[in-house]
Amino acid sequence: DSGETWVMSDLLARHRAVMPSWLALYYDNPIEIVTGKGNRVTDADGVTYLDFFAGIVTNMLGYDVAEVREAVERQLARGVAHTSTLYLLRGQVELAEKIARLSGIPDAKVFFTNSGTEANETALLLATCARGSDQVLAMRNSYHGRSYGTIAVTGNRGWKNSSLSPLNVHYLHGTDRDHPAFRGMGDEEYVEVCVADLRDVLATATAPDVACLIAEPVQGVGGFAMAPEGLFAAYKEVLDEHGILFVSDEVQTGWGRTGSHFWGIGAHGVVPDAMTFAKGLGNGFAIGGVVARGDLMDGLPANGVATFGGNPVSTAAANATLDYLLDHDLQANAARLGPVLLDGLRPLAASLATVGAVRGRGLMFAVDMVEPDSGEPSPRLAAAVLEETRRRGLLIGKGGLHGHTLRMAPPMTLSEEEAREGRDILVEAITAVDAAAR
Ligand code: PMP
Repeated sequence: DSGETWVMSDLLARHRAVMPSWLALYYDNPIEIVTGKGNRVTDADGVTYLDFFAGIVTNMLGYDVAEVREAVERQLARGVAHTSTLYLLRGQVELAEKIARLSGIPDAKVFFTNSGTEANETALLLATCARGSDQVLAMRNSYHGRSYGTIAVTGNRGWKNSSLSPLNVHYLHGTDRDHPAFRGMGDEEYVEVCVADLRDVLATATAPDVACLIAEPVQGVGGFAMAPEGLFAAYKEVLDEHGILFVSDEVQTGWGRTGSHFWGIGAHGVVPDAMTFAKGLGNGFAIGGVVARGDLMDGLPANGVATFGGNPVSTAAANATLDYLLDHDLQANAARLGPVLLDGLRPLAASLATVGAVRGRGLMFAVDMVEPDSGEPSPRLAAAVLEETRRRGLLIGKGGLHGHTLRMAPPMTLSEEEAREGRDILVEAITAVDAAAR
């Protein structure tokens, strides 16, 4: 063994000794990434990878972006990494103005947090306080975070490590339709069934004052499961009849990643009462938040401060990231490259017995791996594809209820050449795993 391998396994042993056992690591031999440039990262062994997972849908401009680095350095050069949200913060106000304008929500106001979990906690707080109710609707197969409140609205069992939530949650079918009862149904019929289910839940299972529905337009951790066309517009009609608020979790789908719209929910023609965001906004710096109707935001009856929420460094990074994204129209890039990737992968579903569905919107696309004999979800084969893509110099993600879905969400700065390179590696890796599985 080389000294480097020894150093790596030593770090892994130290990780296992002091980090929780449920903090899962990717790959049989986990990677330590040490540098990044453009849309590639390099590990401690000097191996460079094209990054199609971008820190879990986070580095939307890739790595070492001069505009973001310089904005952060300018802020640090002032000697103020942090003061307090008890004082006026110019970067925070400017960022809030941009997000309020981009949200499409009338009279929108913004509250900044440090993560998506906290953003969703805040949205749940706004909705439950506004409605004076602890009852919340959420989607099956969803993921919204790792706190008590957000685990409660997480409908994906793989991430539910507690049931001790203060919220009273009812889960709807809808986004993830991979259920025997819905197989073979067209979108229109399926949406009708889901709306009837929502009406039934409201009529029979809840007290009359449900606070909100929280939903991801495309389920991220759930394996990029896409709500069928029209679902949220149809839900919204019913919610409005009851005064129930709608929170769209845009933590993975925001900022134009889905290509056709700036927010994932835009594809449904719905303007929510609140949207939550995080991940990509700071291009690696921790920032999240809620943008909501002003009356909702102002409705909380007591003070609330997030010490680090919207601090000078993360808002400097976020303002630079958002400006870059808009100036370079990266939403259009996502729309342009999505088909390059999908069209290359779709044929695999027909030709390989280990490939189930292939789906995507913009730069969020997924491949379900299935057992060749039974067609059942195959986490084993998905893990094998991850090893094969890694060996070929490509990082991708996993997801889905059973961990059987390959999840790809490259930086939105991806070039067409890189899109083809990553796509070709994926096709090769999946084909190799398929051949070995027979
Ligand atoms: N909502 C969604 C849709 C997410 O994908 C995630 C993170 N995977 C979260 C919320 C939680 O964000 P964070 O990890 O920043 O707390």
